Amino acid sequence: MSYFEITEPVFGTYVIRNARLKQLATGFDWVEGPVWFGDANCLLFSDIPSNRIMRWTPGEGVTVYRAPSNFANGHTRDREGRLVSCEHGARRVSRTEHDGSLTVIADSFQGKRLNSPNDVVVKSDGTIWFSDPHYGIVSNYEGHESAQELPCHVYRVDPASGQMDAMVTDAACPNGLAFSPDESRFYMADTGRRFCDDPTHIRVFDVKADGSLGGGGIFHVVTPGKSDGFRLDSDGNIWTSAADGVHCIAPDGRLLGKILVPELVSNVCFGGRAKHVLFITATTSVYSVALNRIGVQRP
Ligand code: MG
Repeated sequence: MSYFEITEPVFGTYVIRNARLKQLATGFDWVEGPVWFGDANCLLFSDIPSNRIMRWTPGEGVTVYRAPSNFANGHTRDREGRLVSCEHGARRVSRTEHDGSLTVIADSFQGKRLNSPNDVVVKSDGTIWFSDPHYGIVSNYEGHESAQELPCHVYRVDPASGQMDAMVTDAACPNGLAFSPDESRFYMADTGRRFCDDPTHIRVFDVKADGSLGGGGIFHVVTPGKSDGFRLDSDGNIWTSAADGVHCIAPDGRLLGKILVPELVSNVCFGGRAKHVLFITATTSVYSVALNRIGVQRP
């Protein structure tokens, strides 16, 4: 049975028809935040309700990388290859130094505690951009139930100076984030407030020369489901989570095709020897599939 759904013919050239959708590991509660370490040939990902970060290596399978993880969610790497993590439980963004120690990147804004940082991306200038929805503090499932002190914004932090700015302030609940390959565009998923009937879509912003954002219109409405997290390939196509699998969206907003996954997908990342493998976190399992695409190459 094919697990590809080709909407536009070009998608047929993006997939490899005899490549399997592999279930790499299963038995988790809710997996998220995949990040590839090519230098260590491993994938890290969060099992959020289990309060741990897992490590998967070809041939060795899964081991615990960090527990407790402060209910870590999304991860990325900075320009020096260090792990940058969103932590629901500590309501902060942290960086893991090369010696293993943790540095707090941000835990408050204008004297108030962050909500529960969810997903994070690093721009080529070293600034760290993260979303701060309330999902990690509305119950004890993915963090600690506690009072919300700030609206749900997207922030930018310059770790060199400590300067922190709210970049998107009109979202319901910002979630996945990514830049286009040339960083002229910034994409942000809005997955809506918990227990509310908010719209769910991906928005696109223009990144201006002075670093501020313009535009912000609706780029694509994901259906079925939501775009929790996404990554871009080297041509700027968006590979996003959805309720029925992974959707591939062209830079002009058209749905090109789908990879159908048997569990609800939360996020994806490119990795493997040539960044040609898409790793997929989906509810209780992690999957992979080789593609005829490679992940975005940072300038
Ligand atoms: Mg997310």
